[in-house]
Amino acid sequence: MNKQSNAAWSVKGKNVLLYTCERPDVVMESGKGLILKDVEGNSYLDFVGGWAVTALGHCPLVMVKALAEQSQTLINASPGYLNRPMVEFAEILTGHSCMDKVFFTSTGAEANESAIKLARKYGAVKKQGALEIITTVDGFHGRTLATMSATGKNAWMDLFGPKVPGFVHVPFNDLKAVEAAIGPKTCAIMVEPIQGEGGVRIANLEWLAGLRKLCNDHKILLIFDEIQTGMGRTGTMFAYEQYSVEPDIMTLGKGIGGGYPLAAMLCKEELNIFEKGDQGGSYCGQPLAMAVGLAITKELIEGPWMENTRIQGAYLLKRLQEAQGRYALEDVRGKGLLVAFDIPWIEAGAVVDACLREGLLLNAPKPHSIRLMPSLTVSKEEIDMMLSVLFKVLDQLI
Ligand SMILES: *Cc1c(COP(=O)(O)O)cnc(C)c1O
Repeated sequence: MNKQSNAAWSVKGKNVLLYTCERPDVVMESGKGLILKDVEGNSYLDFVGGWAVTALGHCPLVMVKALAEQSQTLINASPGYLNRPMVEFAEILTGHSCMDKVFFTSTGAEANESAIKLARKYGAVKKQGALEIITTVDGFHGRTLATMSATGKNAWMDLFGPKVPGFVHVPFNDLKAVEAAIGPKTCAIMVEPIQGEGGVRIANLEWLAGLRKLCNDHKILLIFDEIQTGMGRTGTMFAYEQYSVEPDIMTLGKGIGGGYPLAAMLCKEELNIFEKGDQGGSYCGQPLAMAVGLAITKELIEGPWMENTRIQGAYLLKRLQEAQGRYALEDVRGKGLLVAFDIPWIEAGAVVDACLREGLLLNAPKPHSIRLMPSLTVSKEEIDMMLSVLFKVLDQLI
């Protein structure tokens, strides 16, 4: 197909896609490692990482192999039956975390829905019907109605009402505010160890430890949404390990499927309290997703990727900190390969657009913040390449 006909077929298709977000005028076609290619043959260095999803890069061999093999063996036996990769994967995930039970879903929002339902079940059974969940301002938990209600984005407060009731939002890293919000109706506290969509806001050690103590004292549940921070993203398998604070429920998503739709909710043995039919879904634990998740998790455990995440993450932070003065960047922050900085003198979207034209993909979670979340396989050379494009673009804009 030549470029002309590429453009011709894509115009119609682009126009009939329902508008839900701004997308640049490129159509992606293929990917390998940290490089994406569009239908015109242009290459892009990808520091969005499929939105912190492509843990091992685009089309990694372990994933391609797992998909190919499983797709020829069994694609879906029904959620009503166990399947081979499901059983093996559940054992590995619980074996490498502080959790005892796991429930698989396709998206992070569904995993959080499961966590919300489990917390309400706990409230119903053990806390005289307590149903309120305390969440944080600027926290993000997904786009279903309940997870939108749990999310603390100001812009969403008046959308799609009536909201699912039972969520109380308190400021992040504020223990007194949480303490004041706890009442007889409270069944859980749900937080991200690092607010990802909120602009990479890192929880204080004292705050998370304080939340754990409050939960113990009031017999309420601590839920960590590790959909963005889990699966090696912050340099350990789960972010909670770096705080030595164990949640009662943890949700995983994004990197766990490496780009394939997969998420999970894990919990402690005492929370094995759902009754038959309380939760489920047509694709919960389907073999293709299970085979992919299993292959990726094994690779994360056995391969050098978490060490690479710590090394390259520290290098990226250091290089950005060194450039802070020259480019008037503020608050360079992050853990592992979840890194962000503020750029008060220009719209972050303008920087993202200019970088795209230079073949570099970046993300702006806030009007003046840039977030970097490349695959955990990123090399020093790729970081150097990314920075040289970014600095060139900033030199032109400044
Ligand atoms: C992305 C994300 C979600 C939602 O996951 P989806 O797979 O998009 O539904 C929930 N919580 C956090 C912290 C996330 O980063």
